[in-house]
Amino acid sequence: MTYETPASETPVNETPASETPASEICINELSIGTHLSVAKGYAALAKDAVQIGANTFQMFIRNPRGARAKELKPGEIETFLDILQMHGFGPFIAHAPYTLNLCSSSRHLRELSARMMGEDLHRMELMPGNLYNLHPGSRLDQPLDSAIEQIAQGLNHVMFPDMKTTVLLETMSGKGSEVGKRFEELKEILDRVAQKDHIGVCMDACHMWDSGYDIVDRLDETLEQFDRLIGLNRLKAFHINDSMNVRESHKDRHTLIGEGHIGEDTIIRIINHPRLCHLPFILETPTDLAGHAQEIKKLRKQYVWGSVSDKISEQNGISKTYPGADF
Ligand SMILES: [Zn+2]
Ligand SMILES: [Zn+2]
Repeated sequence: MTYETPASETPVNETPASETPASEICINELSIGTHLSVAKGYAALAKDAVQIGANTFQMFIRNPRGARAKELKPGEIETFLDILQMHGFGPFIAHAPYTLNLCSSSRHLRELSARMMGEDLHRMELMPGNLYNLHPGSRLDQPLDSAIEQIAQGLNHVMFPDMKTTVLLETMSGKGSEVGKRFEELKEILDRVAQKDHIGVCMDACHMWDSGYDIVDRLDETLEQFDRLIGLNRLKAFHINDSMNVRESHKDRHTLIGEGHIGEDTIIRIINHPRLCHLPFILETPTDLAGHAQEIKKLRKQYVWGSVSDKISEQNGISKTYPGADF
């Protein structure tokens, strides 16, 4: 497999998003949320999301380190979906457990992973139209090519025609033997997946930075690379995390927006980028609900397309408020 050089040489001057002509896909409000716990049930999670001013979120639908999925109570999913609909939520992300590894060198663990993912995807059918994000896998001492083959086989085993969920492969930092640290690796997997209409990618700012992509000085070029290899139409979500480490550190340590090596300006450029601004943006930053509410509020204020639609709303005498954003 040949790699393109990551966009990291001399910085180019990028046009700030605020000077980019208004794009039709961007005049809605920013779709933003955080990773939330489902420990108290789906309805409690939805209420937390509303309370922090989110209109999307991410959750584990089973214990991230174990293999168990909680039994559903009667009506639980209906109540959950009602709350989301009432508050105008867009698609959310269910994150696969960290233990899921479709390219484990153990056949038993590969089969267990596929079984977990299959069960998750069937549960997701109860909540149609959402996203299921997974780390492609850790290959340990297996060659990259066989790991890619195994991941694709696993996906083809559990995905099915007419499924109502889009499966996302996450861009990884390259910690340990993680597959997916380069767009080329994701492309190799995507090319082998049969259900092409139900597969996409979730970018993670911290992971791409830690893997070596210079999203700070060469964001446009990084996106162009992705577009050439995979197609930006396959990009369905974005984890907006700052990174505790320098570029290409392969560490994967998230930190609060503005407190790391990526910085607030870059995150603001990402959410406003005309090719990205319509995506669900998820914070996986180390803070509590109140801290997340602050981060969401801060980023909403920086969303230039949102202010465009605010202006339109004002002209039409429509008051536009974000649920729960006022604390
Ligand atoms: Zn992840
Ligand atoms: Zn991470």
